[in-house]
Amino acid sequence: MAKLQPVRGTHDLLPEQVRSHRYVEETARAVAERYCYAPIDTPIFEFTEVFVRTLGETSDVVSKEMYSFEDKGGDSITLRPEGTAGVVRAVISGGLAQELPLKYFYGGPMFRYERPQKGRQRQFHQIGAELLGVPEPTGDVEIIALGAHILEALGLQANTTLELNTLGDQASRTAYRDDLVAYLSRYRDDLSADSRERLGRNPLRILDSKDRTDREIVAGAPTFDDHLTPTAAEFFAAVCGGLDDLAIAYTLTPTLVRGLDYYCHTAFEFTTTELGAQGTVLAGGRYDGLMEIMGGPPTPGVGWAAGIERLAMMSHDAEPAPRPIALIPVGEEATVRAASLAYRLRRAGLIIDLAHRGNLSRRMKRANKHHARAAVLLGEDELQRQAATVRDLDSGEQTEVSLDDLEARLAAFR
Ligand code: ATP
Ligand code: MG
Repeated sequence: MAKLQPVRGTHDLLPEQVRSHRYVEETARAVAERYCYAPIDTPIFEFTEVFVRTLGETSDVVSKEMYSFEDKGGDSITLRPEGTAGVVRAVISGGLAQELPLKYFYGGPMFRYERPQKGRQRQFHQIGAELLGVPEPTGDVEIIALGAHILEALGLQANTTLELNTLGDQASRTAYRDDLVAYLSRYRDDLSADSRERLGRNPLRILDSKDRTDREIVAGAPTFDDHLTPTAAEFFAAVCGGLDDLAIAYTLTPTLVRGLDYYCHTAFEFTTTELGAQGTVLAGGRYDGLMEIMGGPPTPGVGWAAGIERLAMMSHDAEPAPRPIALIPVGEEATVRAASLAYRLRRAGLIIDLAHRGNLSRRMKRANKHHARAAVLLGEDELQRQAATVRDLDSGEQTEVSLDDLEARLAAFR
């Protein structure tokens, strides 16, 4: 029989990786709490329509990256490729838009059918934040500050750059789009096949192309600044000014667009040079039209998402594994006694590892490998005296302790 393999682009997270993911997520969550972003968890699958309608038919995600299937009831279902659509759907279907603004923080797995490479998986994990109901630029500033604060808490402030751009309002975009298409059409034959196709349907996305020749062409393209309506320009100036007030540094990147269709005004990315080609760690923007597209009351929104794998790869920190106390029985009677003793000590709040089998030397090896703080040796002679030997594995110091006093003695090794 062929060996079973994980699906391409998916990974088992072994304990050490789970701990580093958890460290990223909990650190972020703690910062988000300070900004009063409340936790939310939406299902990992939704009706396909939720994503098609919001991300746009021509977005990369919808046109080629979705994991969609028909369920047994005949509904078209999609594993969520991102978190915003689900959160907005939840706000609409749960009637939560009564009391604005809403501030949410989430984390969890996302699924995209992409070409797997370093920093790019088919199942990956994101944390994200959404602020709904704030049309003012102070909302953009808060959401960006939250992202910057989280990166700082993860020790990544020095390794990341905030890139900022505006996509303007609808009027700005229409004007810009025409100009951009006119310019790019002159280079039609030199554009990558993907970008040629985007030219008709989603020309802004070409600005984001990773193809070398595309990038050279894009470098000379007209930029958004010249097409901004006064309102849009004023909005962007307020965002920049707000960031200046907070002393959050940024670089203006006129070619920065977001991959998903629902964005307007502010677009931003925190990027790094440390991860090779996949340099974006946290990305987001304003999505004022999204609620309406989904059939909800017109409600502005701004948010971001960050890849946990990429953050974990950079941060190197992790929740340290807790140091256990190894309970090591020697002989049959002690082995029987060990089970109830372990239960008793665990209920007293101690972390007890019981290997269940193996001789003394194998169990000591395991204790060292797990970086145990102490070993409780339960030998036949000691058992006769209703006692055990407690060995401090850091100092090597060893004492005999009455079984009744074990909790008190082991409290030092918590
Ligand atoms: P890219 O241009 O890299 O494809 P994107 O625009 O598709 O990015 P978003 O949808 O904005 O990315 O997702 C936000 C963040 O989630 C990214 O910056 C990245 O850190 C992470 N991310 C996105 N797709 C993947 C993936 N396939 N594997 C791992 N992380 C991912
Ligand atoms: Mg992508």
